[in-house]
Amino acid sequence: MASETIALRDDGLNLAELARLDTAKKARTGEGLESQLAYLAETRADHAYSPAVQKLFDLVLSYIEDAEANHRAGRQPAAWMCGGLWSPLYYACDTVPISINEVGRLGSSDAMTVAEDYFQLPKESCSMVGAVLGEFFLRADRTVKRLATYNMMCEPLNIAWELLRAEGVDVFRVEGANRPNTEDEAGRLRIIQDFIESELRDLAIWLHGRPVDETRLSVELLRYNRILAKMRRILHLRVENPLYIRSLATMYLLIGTGTYFGKPDAYEEVLDGLLEELERPDHIRPYPENLVRLVWSGGRGQEFGVYKTIDDSGGAVTAWHTPDEWTRGYREDLPPLQAYADYIITGRTMIGTPVRHLKRIEETIAPFQARGILFYGYVGCSFAGIHREIQSTHFQRLGIPTIALEGSFQVGPPSGQLLTRIRAFVEMLSR
Ligand code: SF4
Repeated sequence: MASETIALRDDGLNLAELARLDTAKKARTGEGLESQLAYLAETRADHAYSPAVQKLFDLVLSYIEDAEANHRAGRQPAAWMCGGLWSPLYYACDTVPISINEVGRLGSSDAMTVAEDYFQLPKESCSMVGAVLGEFFLRADRTVKRLATYNMMCEPLNIAWELLRAEGVDVFRVEGANRPNTEDEAGRLRIIQDFIESELRDLAIWLHGRPVDETRLSVELLRYNRILAKMRRILHLRVENPLYIRSLATMYLLIGTGTYFGKPDAYEEVLDGLLEELERPDHIRPYPENLVRLVWSGGRGQEFGVYKTIDDSGGAVTAWHTPDEWTRGYREDLPPLQAYADYIITGRTMIGTPVRHLKRIEETIAPFQARGILFYGYVGCSFAGIHREIQSTHFQRLGIPTIALEGSFQVGPPSGQLLTRIRAFVEMLSR
C-alpha cells in the first residue's frame, strides 16, 4: 500500500484524486478505512446535502498542491509555517502560508520510514516530529524550501527544523519566551511584547524583503476577528444541530481559521454558506435523543477514525479547545504590530502552563451541553502528557467525566484499543 501511494503521487495525481482512489479501494476490497484521505472522502459523501461542506473539502484537498504549484509558477509566493500564528502576517506580506501540520495530516504512509531510516529518528520519539520530517523530505523536489518556525513549539521540533536546514531548507526562527504565564507581571509582559514585535518585523522582511505594510496587517487582523466571530456562531448553532456538520468536518473547519487553506476569501465564503444553511429552521439533521455532546481538548488529532467512532457511537464533539480556537482575537484598539504581539503573549490559551486553560474549558461545558471531555495527545509527547494529567485531575475533582487519549500523528488507522475506549466512554455517558 505504501509504495502504491508513492507511485500514484509520482504519476502526478493530486490529493482529491487520491481520495477517490482510496475510497474505490475500500469499496473493492471491503476493508476498513485505512488512510486519512479515505476518511475525508467518506465524510464528504456523508455531507452531500451541504454545498458549503463540499466547498470546504475542495479547499482542504487542493490547499497544499495549489500553494506549491502557484509558488513554482511564480503566480503567488508561498512559505511553510509551523503553527497557525503567523498567517495574518504572511497574507499581509503577500505570501501564502503552508501549514507544516497539514503535510503530516494528508501525507504519505512512507513518512515514518524515511524519518527512521534517513534522519535516524529513534522509534520511540514523538510521531509528529517523524511524520513532518519524513513527509517534507518526500516532497522536497517539488515544494517550497522556506519555513518559518516558532521556537516555543517544543524542543523535538526545534531539532527537527535544524535537520531540514541541513537539507537546504531556509529556516527562519521566531524567538519566544516560554514561561508559566499565570505569574505574568505587567513589566515582564511589556518586555516580551516589545521583543515579539521586533521578531514580527524581522519575519516580514524574511517573507518579502521589506517591512510589513501596517494598514494591510490591520486588514488581516480584522479578517481573523471576523472569521472567529463567524466560527463561534457556527459552533453555537451546531449545539442544537450536532450532526449537520459531523465531528471530522468541524475539525477541518476549525483548522481553516489558522491558514484559510491558502484562499482567505473562499474560506470565508464557506463559513457564510454554512451559517446560511444552519440558520434555516428546516435544516436540522436527525440525531439520537440521548446524543452525547463532548469537549475535545489538546491536539486536533490525525487519526480521523477517532472522530468517526465518536459520531458512530452516538456522540458529537461540540466544544473544541485546540491551539487556535477560543482565543479572544486581536485587540482592535492597538496599533497592528502591538495588537499582534499582545495576542501572541496573552490571547492564546495553549501557551504556558495548562492551568490558565482550565477555566476556558470549564466555561464551555454548559453552553455546549457537554457531558464529558476528551483530552487528546500524541504518543511520545511529554508536554501533552503532563497537561492531560493536570487537566484530568482538575475535572475529576469537579465530577466531570474525562478520558485521556493517546494517538499517533502519522498516516494510518487508529488502534482498535483506542476506538474501543472511545466507544465505551460515549456509551457510559449515554446512560
Ligand atoms: S506532539 Fe509534543 S513533542 Fe511532538 S512535536 Fe508536538 S509538542 Fe512536540
